[in-house]
Amino acid sequence: MTRLIFLGPPGAGKGTQAKNLADGLNIPHISTGDILRQAMKDQTSLGIKAQSFVDKGELVPDQLVQDLVEERLAKPDAQSGWILDGFPRTVSQATFLEELLNQLNQGGERVVNLEVPDEIVVSRLLGRGRKDDTEDVIRRRLEVYRSSTAPLISYYSDRHKLLSVNGNQSLEDVTKVLLLSIN
Ligand code: AMP
Repeated sequence: MTRLIFLGPPGAGKGTQAKNLADGLNIPHISTGDILRQAMKDQTSLGIKAQSFVDKGELVPDQLVQDLVEERLAKPDAQSGWILDGFPRTVSQATFLEELLNQLNQGGERVVNLEVPDEIVVSRLLGRGRKDDTEDVIRRRLEVYRSSTAPLISYYSDRHKLLSVNGNQSLEDVTKVLLLSIN
């Protein structure tokens, strides 16, 4: 049973790797960013509530993303494993997730930290062309990552769940290392 959490700065290649790995393992790739972008496109109440935060590069309030993850992990296809991409992003989301996984009897999760130097991250993000990839918003997303999300590295390392992978190599090489290290 594979349950993986992908950590790493925006632009580290989390989304691509998480998706490839999930497809290969035939388990759902659960990206809170993708779910929020779809909700904004569909103008659902979640999307409307999230929009201003996402547009500015700020984190959406914990409660909103926690509710969506709780709902998603209860679905039938998540019972055979999953890859979480972009959640948790704060220590309080991580403690929420720990409790939720206990309740759902879905323990044993491991955390992949994709390590990529700052200058690489910025140039990758500028080349991506997403709506929230303008220079100011990118800068803000990196600040938010450093202050709110990076503390999760020691949080999971303290719990012996962390696996660090060098994300500054070709897509194929990162995939190879990932496959070797999760087995
Ligand atoms: P991502 O696609 O993971 O880069 O997420 C895009 C945006 O969605 C982020 O900049 C946040 O505004 C929002 N978002 C995604 N996941 C979370 C989360 N776990 N907590 C708060 N906001 C989130």
